[in-house]
Amino acid sequence: MLNSMVQALRCRECGRDYPKEALHVCEDCFGPLEVAYDYEAVAARLTRAAIATRPPTMWRYRELLPLDAPPTVGLDNGFTPLVRADRLGQRLGLRALYIKNDSVCHPTWSFKDRVVAVALSKARELGFETVACASTGNLANSVSAHAATAGLGAFVFIPDDLEAGKVLATQIYGARVVAVRGSYDDVNRLCAELTDRYRWGFVNVNLRPYYAEGSKTYGYEIQEQLGWRQPAHIVVPMASGSLLTKIGKSLDEFRQLGFVTTSPTRLHGAQAAGCGPIAEAVARDSEDIRPVKKPQTIAKSLAIGNPADGFYASRAIRASGGTAVAVSDAEIVEAMKLLGECEGIFTETAGGVTIAALRRIVAEGRIQADELTVACITGNGLKTQEALQFTAPPVISPHAHELAALLGPAYE
Ligand SMILES: *Cc1c(COP(=O)(O)O)cnc(C)c1O
Ligand SMILES: [Zn+2]
Repeated sequence: MLNSMVQALRCRECGRDYPKEALHVCEDCFGPLEVAYDYEAVAARLTRAAIATRPPTMWRYRELLPLDAPPTVGLDNGFTPLVRADRLGQRLGLRALYIKNDSVCHPTWSFKDRVVAVALSKARELGFETVACASTGNLANSVSAHAATAGLGAFVFIPDDLEAGKVLATQIYGARVVAVRGSYDDVNRLCAELTDRYRWGFVNVNLRPYYAEGSKTYGYEIQEQLGWRQPAHIVVPMASGSLLTKIGKSLDEFRQLGFVTTSPTRLHGAQAAGCGPIAEAVARDSEDIRPVKKPQTIAKSLAIGNPADGFYASRAIRASGGTAVAVSDAEIVEAMKLLGECEGIFTETAGGVTIAALRRIVAEGRIQADELTVACITGNGLKTQEALQFTAPPVISPHAHELAALLGPAYE
């Protein structure tokens, strides 16, 4: 099956078309390039019934992904559980709450496996032998793992203060990891410069238009798993703002293709208070992002001070009637524990941002108890253990009387 439904790369600002190569900015106006599809051709080929018969992976929506040939990397990725979260809902005052659980996304436990599968499949189509990325952690894990299976060389650039788990889970797959003194924004600037110097496929620089499309599958799955419905609310954690923007695009596309019964969906963005430039712009009712110079939060995976898609994320949130909130580190930790205790899901700090933001938005009266609501859990808690502190469990000898002494009279 050849699925070239892709017409061109198109400038989001001036509309100029570019060939399907490793390009990401418009020469004329410096706008970002986005993949343009022939939606009539997609509609002729793709139906709900066809999707439903395909294997449960992100590639069941392949006509809406930007490859010209069948995918070759990350063939089993995606189709993570959408779980009903009644116990958490009860705590927050919601009766129709779901969690889209990419803390168990295959193979590196974050939604980045979706974007990397697309980016590296495209990198191979374009003939790259080495791939690279600037990462806040999860992208590093995923690029390294997928480059390993694809037999591609990999250079991964990270800020020098990343969590140990994120660094280890990049090194295990054999990529060359380079820590850069500075923030993610410094790392990203360096990578933009390196793109001119080396013929590498940088998944979030020169391959960014393709990479970003992979996030749409998270949104497609939500809609299919709700029984081809769109929810009233989706709460999305934001770093560059790409995931939120692409979930918005997935809603538009399924609506346009007639795949879903639509309720107008409000998109809500979640950030950490120590790095919330998009939330801050939304609060001003603006698309003008004021970069955060020194991000300071335990949610390192979201710590992008100068978010590439901030403008579009702010626009999508405001156009949908949604909101954006920035939550404190203490709220993040509390929310990670709440999700674990209510739903048995161990998420990383970014997931704590989502749940803390959801809690705030409900408390502000912006989500009604019976409205269908989806919270986006995008990463796994085993990778950010330093964010949590528990007292060590009590130790006893293997004798029942020692447990009885520990538990006290209430259990007699
Ligand atoms: C990268 C990331 C996000 C958000 O990414 P965007 O840049 O906004 O697309 C959300 N959650 C986790 C865990 C991430 O690693
Ligand atoms: Zn342009």
